Amino acid sequence: MSERIAVVTGASRGIGRAIAMALAKDGATVIVNYNGSKERAFAVVEEIREAGGRAEAIGCDVSDFKGAEELFQRIARDYGRIDILVNNAGITKDGLLMKMSEEDFDRVISINLKGAFNCIRHASRQMLKQRSGRIISISSVSGVMGNAGQANYSASKAGIIGLTKSAARELAGRGITVNAVAPGFIDTEMTQALSDKVRENAAAQIPLGHFGQAEDVAAAVAFLASGQAGYITGQVLCVDGGMAM
Ligand code: NAP
Repeated sequence: MSERIAVVTGASRGIGRAIAMALAKDGATVIVNYNGSKERAFAVVEEIREAGGRAEAIGCDVSDFKGAEELFQRIARDYGRIDILVNNAGITKDGLLMKMSEEDFDRVISINLKGAFNCIRHASRQMLKQRSGRIISISSVSGVMGNAGQANYSASKAGIIGLTKSAARELAGRGITVNAVAPGFIDTEMTQALSDKVRENAAAQIPLGHFGQAEDVAAAVAFLASGQAGYITGQVLCVDGGMAM
């Protein structure tokens, strides 16, 4: 993967951080995107550099169409190419449907789904010129199966699947593959925020019996970004301990 340029959104912690580390280990130069957590993003870059890799942190709120355009224009200008885009940035604002505010619905759709659209829209301009590229977006089992208390989040993650399949069909003729990875319950700050009771109930629904690690998701993304996955497009790979089967 040497000399390939990868962009990972929301890479300041959790799954995004693990993806950035895995792609850097495979030889890619990684753009570590963040929104609020600047110091943590710089720490990820430092960790990659200490391990002998190449990385740079760039802040951008992916839900901002213009901001995302500037991000990808800057990367194309500075590095001359964009080989891999990983749409990982995401948030939750859980609540029962009847109590969910309009703001909480809109914010989750805006970051999780529109953010992925914004990045695909602007990164694909450079990929189309190159006639090559890999786009991988992080969906969720909630988008595949639905989940009570997550109407906004599940809709955004199901939307990622439709976006992935449509983009895969549009971009296939130019050598660009587009896939989604749908994690189940993964041990990160997002799930550490859940109560012990919710975590226990969740683990009981997982055939393998336990939460996954960020590195489990990163390994699937690294595979889809690799030369070995060149004939795979429009797919949703569940990394969920068997939960959604
Ligand atoms: P996390 O620990 O909460 O990290 C979320 C990341 O997204 C942070 O780096 C955050 O950066 C970034 N982010 C949030 N809003 C952003 C914005 N507007 N623009 C750019 N970056 C933004 O979450 P995680 O558990 O690693 O989840 C990563 C992805 O996997 C998400 O899409 C999530 O929905 C998905 N997922 C997670 C699980 C799970 O069990 N953990 C399961 C299925 C799917 P800043 O702090 O810098 O804003």
